[in-house]
Amino acid sequence: MVNGHAYKELKSPNTNLAILCSHNFSVPFNQPIAYARKVGELTNMLANGHILVQRFGDILDGKRTWEKELTQSNVKPTLPDAVAGDITAAMPYRAMMNIINFIKAMDEVVPGFASYETLLYSPELKFYSNRIKMDTKLNTNIEGLHCLGDSSGWTRGLMMSSAMGVLMGRELA
Ligand SMILES: Cc1cc2nc3c(=O)[nH]c(=O)nc-3n(C[C@H](O)[C@H](O)[C@H](O)COP(=O)(O)OP(=O)(O)OC[C@H]3O[C@@H](n4cnc5c(N)ncnc54)[C@H](O)[C@@H]3O)c2cc1C
Repeated sequence: MVNGHAYKELKSPNTNLAILCSHNFSVPFNQPIAYARKVGELTNMLANGHILVQRFGDILDGKRTWEKELTQSNVKPTLPDAVAGDITAAMPYRAMMNIINFIKAMDEVVPGFASYETLLYSPELKFYSNRIKMDTKLNTNIEGLHCLGDSSGWTRGLMMSSAMGVLMGRELA
């Protein structure tokens, strides 16, 4: 899987972010972790056990990215052993459309975000833990035990986990 390895000393001319799209399942299937694993496996399989990389423009044109095209692009992949290919062959339609629409919308505020050469890596998967039951003051059913941030199962990102910390701080103060 990709995303997140940040070297302190080693710098790159590129920047990156993850675009996450949540799925909730109900009847007759409710195994989101198994589902996400399958998506990951399929993507890894297409890349022969590696990470897939594809240019955004190729996705819109409905074609895979070829290694030769990647070497000729201005944007060079920071991850050297990512394999050029077709992410859309493994990504479910709804998740893919969410990602495409997000990139297009971001282009309105960050012109160039949706450029032909923007690189997409896949798979990036996040698994949520079970959510711990708490009241609005973050009390669990064990007196004096509070669960915050990712450990609570309620967050998987910096913003929300930080916000939860602030809420708890206010309660304790
Ligand atoms: C590789 C990676 C990339 C990510 N990229 C993004 C991103 O781009 N954007 C985004 O919003 N979020 C991202 N996240 C998620 C984000 O980092 C987490 O959601 C957030 O850091 C959770 O904050 P937290 O305070 O709940 O937990 P943490 O930041 O995990 O803090 C828990 C702390 O508890 C400490 N600890 C554990 N056990 C003990 C113990 N027994 N005693 C004392 N201390 C202990 C740990 O050392 C740690 O410092 C990424 C996460 C990873 C792993």
